[in-house]
Amino acid sequence: MTTPQAPKSPAVIIVSAPSGTGKTTLNRRLTTMHPEVQVSVSYTTRKKRQGEEEGVHYHFVTNKHFHELIKQGQMLEYAEVFGTLYGTPVGEIQRLQAAGKIALLEIDVQGWRQAREKLPGAKAIFILPPTVEALWQRLEGRATEAKDVRWRRLMTARNEISSGNLYDHFIVNHNLETAYAELEAIVIKGERSKIGHQEGLRLCQQLLTEFDDSPWLHKLSRELADN
Ligand code: 5GP
Repeated sequence: MTTPQAPKSPAVIIVSAPSGTGKTTLNRRLTTMHPEVQVSVSYTTRKKRQGEEEGVHYHFVTNKHFHELIKQGQMLEYAEVFGTLYGTPVGEIQRLQAAGKIALLEIDVQGWRQAREKLPGAKAIFILPPTVEALWQRLEGRATEAKDVRWRRLMTARNEISSGNLYDHFIVNHNLETAYAELEAIVIKGERSKIGHQEGLRLCQQLLTEFDDSPWLHKLSRELADN
């Protein structure tokens, strides 16, 4: 006679990526194509952007409220990203799992560093840009942001990429279609990423070398310093 087993909880997926890597587009497509995947709704102190809704994209709170939530132990993890606080509510994963959903946490590297001991079964995916130059060009495409803001985002990306060892699965976003197919294979089919841990770390190292050795980046840094 076989022993009855407790039903397996739906998976918990972490997706982190430096800003400008296409993470939001990939995740939106995944949740649209597969409604069984739902993004965990975080708290944030940033202002609502056009088209964002309270309780759908984020819970928009004041700094004071956010700090109260931390004090009350209501944050599974939290981090300051570009001067704004973001945090995952305790209980959000259980809420999604109880509804039979795969919980998708779009959190930054600092957040995953804090949460990973609390979420031992989670699958952590890191989305990488193909090159630093491609990342810079994508940030340049955001015409709303000044060059020094883009530069700060680029340096944050460098920092994040140096923590690639916290992730098990790596996707390089060369092309949206291929990157999406890989994300879908990992989250929906439960496959491993095509790029294994060692290869992922090698790619991170390659990007870090590009950050440190590119003549165009040195030139850009001098230009910004002179302004
Ligand atoms: P955005 O303001 O563009 O929605 O998000 C900016 C950054 O904050 C992204 O890198 C995103 O992954 C990160 N982020 C969003 N929610 C959370 C959260 O709950 N915790 C952490 N640690 N980072 C978050």
